[in-house]
Amino acid sequence: MKSKLLITFPNTTGDKPIVYNLIKNYDLKINIIKASFDFNFRGSLFVEVDGSSENIARGLEYVEQEGVLADFINSTITVDRAVCVECGLCTSACQSQALSLDQEQSLVFQNSKCIGCNLCIKVCPSRAISNGVVSHES
Ligand code: SF4
Ligand code: SF4
Repeated sequence: MKSKLLITFPNTTGDKPIVYNLIKNYDLKINIIKASFDFNFRGSLFVEVDGSSENIARGLEYVEQEGVLADFINSTITVDRAVCVECGLCTSACQSQALSLDQEQSLVFQNSKCIGCNLCIKVCPSRAISNGVVSHES
């Protein structure tokens, strides 16, 4: 099972190998899509986690015990291809590179990278994008 998670670290956990432990002790594959830190050493990771539902649940229990917050991200978007004019404006707004143009200048959407921020919806001049909710990807 694949899930998208937003993991938020307080500034007290900087010396703990939390992501390493998730991989090693809970047999999870973790793909970091976006990472950010502020000047107070608080950080957040937007990740795709691949593993059994049992191991993901155990891993989440572990991070919570360490004082780390982890939230499932279930939001996604839908592009109405009949309305989209493939101008590419939404690709500039998308910070996680979930939206891009391919070599033929066709819009490509990668759901696994979408963090549901809805910025693309605001910039689309054609109103081709709407938001939605998906269950966990399998
Ligand atoms: S901004 Fe709207 S019209 Fe332009 S490429 Fe994105 S979805 Fe299509
Ligand atoms: S909702 Fe945010 S992350 Fe998802 S495609 Fe739009 S801009 Fe990118």
